[in-house]
Amino acid sequence: MRNSKGSLMRPDPLPGSASIPVVTPLSPSVVYASETPDALDDQYEGRVHGYTYSREGHPNADVVSQRLDAMEGATGGVVTSSGMAAVTAVVMGLMKAGDHMIGGNQLYGRSLRLMAEDLPRLGIETTLADPADVAAVEAAIRPETKMILVEAVSNPTLAMADIDGLAHLCRERGILLVVDNTFTTPRGFRPFDHGADIVIHSITKLLAGHSDVMLGYVVARDQEINTRLRVFSVTTGLTPSPFDCWLAERGMLSFELRFDRAQATAAVLADHLAGLPGVKRVIYPTRSDHPDHKRAMELLAGQGCNMVSFELNGGREAANAFTRAAEGLSFAPTLGDVATTLSHPASSSHRALTAEKRAELGLHEGFFRVSVGLEDPQVLCDVFTRAVAEAT
Ligand SMILES: *Cc1c(COP(=O)(O)O)cnc(C)c1O
Repeated sequence: MRNSKGSLMRPDPLPGSASIPVVTPLSPSVVYASETPDALDDQYEGRVHGYTYSREGHPNADVVSQRLDAMEGATGGVVTSSGMAAVTAVVMGLMKAGDHMIGGNQLYGRSLRLMAEDLPRLGIETTLADPADVAAVEAAIRPETKMILVEAVSNPTLAMADIDGLAHLCRERGILLVVDNTFTTPRGFRPFDHGADIVIHSITKLLAGHSDVMLGYVVARDQEINTRLRVFSVTTGLTPSPFDCWLAERGMLSFELRFDRAQATAAVLADHLAGLPGVKRVIYPTRSDHPDHKRAMELLAGQGCNMVSFELNGGREAANAFTRAAEGLSFAPTLGDVATTLSHPASSSHRALTAEKRAELGLHEGFFRVSVGLEDPQVLCDVFTRAVAEAT
């Protein structure tokens, strides 16, 4: 479009204003116009910074990636349209047919599915192993093994991976160590300080924190790998929408406060649950009865996390009675929201497993995972006291 003087009509972002906004503006523009072909050359060849087309990058994504880079102690991270898009970028963007990867045996359900179904279809072989057992992981290594993908704290039994041991093994064998840091967050655990090569986040969870945006992030220590991840994401359209990035930035501004509050409440709730007669067992990293307590204290530097898992006495009937009686708590398959949410692995994340396999993992019908939110700790404990009493 041209204005009356015949020159290009450009929107004025702040018509007639001498002052500037204190909040990052939302830039939904899909395309960015340049002055001349020479100016475009300057941009493509990196002499000046600029945007061209929003799948290739946009200011709202850059604001989010810069914040996360700073939190993880990295540079050059890539924001993706979901956490699974970040996982996809890593496994499909960095491997080829004939390669092999090893995954932790309690990874996020869709990551497990990617390894079980999609990668083998593309000729990439996969093996699962217990990431707490370095010898078991080592035994699964083949000459073609390119990467090992683990989560520091497992879902939903909160088992601790031996990240330091795995990092040592990966360095020795020239294998990439990829850590999905969603559960632990950069405030609880910094994988690069423990020798990881690549870090993945589902921003959807604690980082954005309000269950209203789906977004992911991936960053490698090596800038050449970051470039490959970025190019693959742009080519395959794994890139995020400006509005989602804008919302995520807003959520991330309060992330640290939310995390500290939620994990302090989670520790209180864990101890409270352990004292209730209807509760068979409680799993929480800072409790001395956690199966990997010593490693948890080392990895999480004495902190916990916002997740508490516990098992009610009783079967499915008790589980149904519990969610019905847990007033104000959503029984919903997510984590990291401002409100406390309940998850029941036997009917959701682990429903595809046989009852025997679930029993092997300790996931009986009475097992719940709690993602602790920002409620008053006493009020929350009272809700659990009543619901557990009602159910058992
Ligand atoms: C939720 C989650 C993912 C996937 O993230 P989405 O944003 O839902 O795609 C990956 N890993 C872990 C550990 C998660 O909790």
